[in-house]
Amino acid sequence: MTIEERGLSVILLGPPGVGKGTQGAILADSFGWERIVTGDLLRAARREGTELGRKAQRYMDAGDLVPDGLIVALVRERLQQLPEDRGIVFDGFPRTVAQAEALAIALPELGREIDAVLLLEAPDEVLVKRISGRRSCPQCGRVFNVHFDPPISEAICDECGARLDHRKDDQPETVRHRLAVYRRETEPLVEHYGRQLGAVLRVDGVGSLDEVAAGVQRALNTHLELEAQA
Ligand code: AMP
Repeated sequence: MTIEERGLSVILLGPPGVGKGTQGAILADSFGWERIVTGDLLRAARREGTELGRKAQRYMDAGDLVPDGLIVALVRERLQQLPEDRGIVFDGFPRTVAQAEALAIALPELGREIDAVLLLEAPDEVLVKRISGRRSCPQCGRVFNVHFDPPISEAICDECGARLDHRKDDQPETVRHRLAVYRRETEPLVEHYGRQLGAVLRVDGVGSLDEVAAGVQRALNTHLELEAQA
């Protein structure tokens, strides 16, 4: 199957707070792709009180990784629900080499392969400020930032008037721990995919939303054009 015929599979790597969620949503919207966002799937499981949600809770609150086995089962289930011509952007997965190895087995079983790995980068000070300022609306899902995009009235959603949440794992101490976990467990994937695919597409995550989105598009288009010519 050629790149044009099968759904592309693109991985978004990068530390917490770098903008994977925002950029993943832009990519998915502009190409009609599906997003697989393990953090969102886990938060939904917690809200619904499923067994997975209960098991994941203490890891998430502490800013630790949920065990690989649970995450891989979750992603496999989601992948099987998607038609094979549908593009996918993975956000927040894989986060360990073991998860990457499981994905490398699961994708070919579904007629897919990894087409590109994008790495969004930003310095730690920027990340800590971005994440610890984040407030989200539990009702309509809108996300604010008290430093960069504050709500009109403190702690209240501009859109729907609900009380905004400050995620437990977005508190400054937990954020620093999540960054350390990222460096230890997830950053090795940059080298892993560099070796496996020959290239990880690095994109500067500092800048306006539009600037970063343009960087993502540029990197991806150049890469896919080169792949198509190969
Ligand atoms: P995120 O919203 O991507 O920052 O994820 C929030 C939390 O969910 C993380 O701090 C982890 O506890 C958990 N989580 C999300 N994705 C994964 C993953 N691929 N592997 C392990 N834990 C994950």
